[in-house]
Amino acid sequence: LPTRSQVDPGSLPAYACQRHTPLNHHNLCFTEALETLAEAAGFEGSQGRLISFRRAASVLRALPGPITNVSQLRGLPCFGDHSSRIVQELLEHGISSEVERVKQSERYQTMKLFTQIFGVGVKTADKWYREGLRTLEDLQGQTRKLNRQQEAGIRHFEDLSSSVWRHEADAIQRVVEEAVWQVLPGASVTLTGGFRRGKLQGHDVDFLITHPVEGQEAGLIPKVMGLLESQGLVLYQHTQSNHYQDFKDLEHKVSQSTAIDAYERCFSILWLPKSPTSFHPEAGEGPKEPSRDGKAVRVDLVVAPISQFAFALLGWTGSQHFERELRRFSRAEKQMLLNSHGLYHPEKKESLPAASEEDIFTHLGLEYIAPEQRNA
Ligand code: ATP
Ligand code: MN
Ligand code: MN
Repeated sequence: LPTRSQVDPGSLPAYACQRHTPLNHHNLCFTEALETLAEAAGFEGSQGRLISFRRAASVLRALPGPITNVSQLRGLPCFGDHSSRIVQELLEHGISSEVERVKQSERYQTMKLFTQIFGVGVKTADKWYREGLRTLEDLQGQTRKLNRQQEAGIRHFEDLSSSVWRHEADAIQRVVEEAVWQVLPGASVTLTGGFRRGKLQGHDVDFLITHPVEGQEAGLIPKVMGLLESQGLVLYQHTQSNHYQDFKDLEHKVSQSTAIDAYERCFSILWLPKSPTSFHPEAGEGPKEPSRDGKAVRVDLVVAPISQFAFALLGWTGSQHFERELRRFSRAEKQMLLNSHGLYHPEKKESLPAASEEDIFTHLGLEYIAPEQRNA
């Protein structure tokens, strides 16, 4: 019988969308190091290096056992010299000098802090860094630099940088459902993102909304947000109406290979009141803060017509790396274009309909991977 530490690299497919990647795996110390280097590469605008490190980390997450010897890396897909060297260093010394140097650098720490702010991407963080800004206090002293979203991100920084727990996501779902059903009876609210993949905590809560009658869903979000606002639950919101009109046809729509889709959506910060009966995992770990009777939570709402729901569900469940790999596989191996709206065959000039995520995997000739196994 093979032991769990025995790894057969020959059996591991090259694309993350061909592999089962559970949430909990056996190589955390290696994946953390590689993800740090991926993140740092992203901060320097090196998209290629970011993806290389992320692919290597993703391969380790899919392994059935821990890496205990560098020889086990031989034959693994997506494992280049640099990633191998990091793993070797960790195996030999328990620590990687390169990773430690990155983590301790002012550049990495500042970029990590700034990009953690809601509404701040790498470009903005880099600009602020080059202007000499280093802390949240530095930013608060320069409020003219901030847009409305970033200002809200800083105002609620403490709440937003602490994890959202699964029971909090469920509580938010009940609040959102109540509002959605009041506006449009029969609509459905589906939890997507990391929580659908089985994560117990996340940085936000993602919902996908649809209605069994095509077209009924249009214009839903402004009404829902209006209702939540009247209940005093909206701390920040930015709603975008759908921009399907920008896409003349599905071919154009799916050939926009960016991750950004055209759905009606809302990026928000909602207020989750602390219910007296709810379970608080943090209770008992320190003195209670009597002034806090609730928490600010980042919530994303997306509305899809039922005909595109399966594609939207697949696209918004993630992980981000799993999605990127699905699109890459479709393009390179199947000559098809996949995004959150559909799957298109440019040569045959046909789009393939799907009523479920399973249908999409079938169209692509892929084994179905359940959401809990998409933690690539
Ligand atoms: P976390 O726990 O950190 O929230 P997550 O996997 O839920 O993890 P999100 O950033 O919430 O991460 O993204 C969830 C999914 O939604 C990802 O698969 C991502 O590709 C997709 N997504 C995020 N933003 C957009 C967007 N603007 N357009 C299309 N898809 C998006
Ligand atoms: Mn999320
Ligand atoms: Mn999100």
